[in-house]
Parts: sequence; C-alpha cells; structure tokens
Amino acid sequence: MKYQRVRGMQDLLPEDQPYWAHVEKACHDLAGRYGFERLEAPVLESTDLFVRGVGDATDIVSKEMYSFVDKGEDALTLRPEFTAGVMRAYIENGMGSRPQPQKLYSFGPIFRRERPAKGRYRQFYQFNAEVIGTPDALADLEIMQIAHGLYSRLGFTNLVFQLNSTGDPECKPRFIQALRDYFTPLMDRLAPLDRERLAKNPLRVLDTKERETLPLLADAPRFVDYLNAACAEHFAELRAYLDDAGIRYEINHRLVRGLDYYTKTVFELWGEGLGAQGALCGGGRYDGLIEALGGAPTPGVGFATGIERIIMSMRELGVQPAPLPRPDVFIAHLGPAAKRVAVQLAAQLRAEGTGVRVAFGARSLKAQMKDADRAGCALALLIGDDEVRDGTVTARDLAHSEQATLARADAAGWIRAHLP
Ligand code: AMP
Repeated sequence: MKYQRVRGMQDLLPEDQPYWAHVEKACHDLAGRYGFERLEAPVLESTDLFVRGVGDATDIVSKEMYSFVDKGEDALTLRPEFTAGVMRAYIENGMGSRPQPQKLYSFGPIFRRERPAKGRYRQFYQFNAEVIGTPDALADLEIMQIAHGLYSRLGFTNLVFQLNSTGDPECKPRFIQALRDYFTPLMDRLAPLDRERLAKNPLRVLDTKERETLPLLADAPRFVDYLNAACAEHFAELRAYLDDAGIRYEINHRLVRGLDYYTKTVFELWGEGLGAQGALCGGGRYDGLIEALGGAPTPGVGFATGIERIIMSMRELGVQPAPLPRPDVFIAHLGPAAKRVAVQLAAQLRAEGTGVRVAFGARSLKAQMKDADRAGCALALLIGDDEVRDGTVTARDLAHSEQATLARADAAGWIRAHLP
C-alpha cells in the first residue's frame, strides 16, 4: 500500500455512522432544549489566537499544535480546542451587543499532535458549549447540567463531577505564590518535569501524573483556602445549585485543568463506561479570556467533550444505535429496455420522496434479488420485457413474499400501502 492514513487519524466508515448520528443527534437535541444556538468557527485560525487564548505554557500550545506558515505569509494553526475560536468569533461579529448571555455550541473536528493511543487521536471530534456574558453561577450549573444530561441520555452511569475553583486574577497569584513556597524547599524531590512546571506554570504541578511528585501533593496548599470573598461566594452558590439539582460532585483540590484561561469554576465529569481513559469531559469558567483576546471584559463558562470516546464506550457497553435511513425500494430489471424504464421510474419515485436503489449492471434476477436483500430493501419492483411492453411493473413485498403486477402509474400508491 502506497498511501496510508496520517498517523493518529481515523477513517469513519459507513458502519461507524449510526453511532455518530446517534451521538450527534443527542448533542443537537440537548443543546436546542437548553437554549444553545450553533456557532461554527473555521478549523483554521491564526496561531497567535491559541498562543494568547490557551497559553504557551500549556502542552496543547507548546507541543501539540499543527501549525504552519501559509505560503510564507500567515502563521496558521488547525484548532486544538474550540473556545478560543468561539471567543474570536464572538468578538469579531459584535455578539457582545446581542442579548446576553449568548449560549453557543459547536460540533466538529479538533487537532492535537498527541501520542496516538486507544481513544487518543490526532484528529478527533468535540461537542463544545459556552455561556458568554454572565458571571452568574447559574451559567456554570447549566454547562454542567448539559454535560451531565448528555452522558446520562447516552446511557452512562455513576456520573460524578470533580469540582474545584481556581479563583480570579486577585486571589490566583496568592495561591500560586503559596504553591511556590510549598514546593520550592521540596525541589529535589520533584520530578524533573514538575520542576520545569513549577517555574513556568506552577498550577500544573497539582495535576501531575509524575510518580515522584505525587506523595508531595497531600499537604500542598488547597485553592479553596485562598479564594477571595467573591470567588468563595460564587463557588458556594454553584455548590448549592448542584445540591438542589441532585447532581453528584466531589471537591477535587488537584483539579486545575490544562488551559491557562480558567478562572473560578473548573470541573471534570467522571463516570462509568470508559475503561481507563479518565475524565469523560471537562470545562470551566474563563472570565478573563475575551478581554485577553482584545474584546470588552466579558465573563464566560463552557465545556467540551470528545465524541470518539463516547462512541468507544457505547460499543464496549453494547449500546445499539438505531439504523440510518436507507432506500426502501429496489428496482430490478432484465434487458436494456427494462433498464431504461427502471432508471426513469427510479427518478420519478425519488422525486416524490421515496428512497430507491436501482440494480447496476445486467445480472440474473436471482442475483439482483440478493442485492435487494443485502441492501435491506423491503420492497422490490421488477421490470422485464413483458412489463416494458405492457407499461406495468411487478411489485414484490420481500418480507411477505407477496407479488402483484400493476400499472406503472400505480407503483407509488402500492409502495405507500406496503411500506413497513
Ligand atoms: P480537553 O479539551 O483536553 O479538556 O478535552 C475534552 C475532551 O476531549 C476529553 O475529555 C476527551 O473526551 C476529548 N479528547 C481530548 N483529547 C483527545 C484525543 N487526543 N483524542 C480523542 N479525544 C480527545
């Protein structure tokens, strides 16, 4: 084979599509019901947008972006996440002067140059939802509810949020200083990667996976102890709403999330049905992001979830999505004149909205009937020399082995009467 898929990329084959349609429909339905409107930004954005919007100390920006210089002119990147592009679109399209908040969602491919593994791809799909323009903790709740609603609708169980607050520009620096003060004397015992993180992005030491560092985390400072009054109040309000809604959560002091732009709420949703892939999805609040990207100060909160991992779990759990629509009627023909009549009849029936499949080639009736069966058609119309001469078709109900010869003009009526 000369050509192969690019490493970490996937082909989504016809047999995969019922799963995709099922999950996509759940996303669109749920988003609509919660009052979210769809916004699709382009896959390509300026590299600088992600450097500013996600942060160059993050793995995504420092290691995982597909970036290139377009014909020696513009530095462009295939989006490695949705939020920065949605915020750019919000600012650029003046959406701040529409009624606030704006509730927006997106569904599409994301690109990250990660090490490929089971459930980890370099092109994958995300469903992303954002509430932009309100600091209300109710917006945080709604984002968490839509995430929770999606996973419960898709059959996941034991859903529990991991929840933390990462403060605001006033209290965050105090917490970061406390982290520095705590880890600096322990520097020798930190994993090399975490020594680097401590210098560049100390929060990331908290969600480390490095074995040497893990035991040092037990006594590390906790963000909740450093929140100022406004952040503490926001956090308490959100917890009260979650309690009222009966949504389970645990405070996770190690949860900071990878992206720089989070303020206040950060969360991940954990649940059953996903092997060792970790969180089902994550998100949080990013009150400073729009301003950092050149817009007016505007609060926002959002989440994103990966579609491939949902589908992987559905398959593991044996969840069967509904089959996709396909043609109901198969038209078989014997001889060139019959084939021409078949093509005309197919066009006419399709124009009326009936799904039709016409046999290709010139094969025996038996072979054509086998195709009809394989294609899952419930009804077949047969045209041979007699039918051409008489202006008729022979109509066969495949499931009930019934057959009738009728005027061609009556075929549509017969189909309507016999569709399962
Ligand atoms: P993140 O934007 O990193 O918070 O990721 C949000 C969700 O996207 C994760 O919970 C996963 O479901 C999914 N995801 C992230 N990276 C990948 C990847 N490389 N391949 C497949 N899914 C991914």
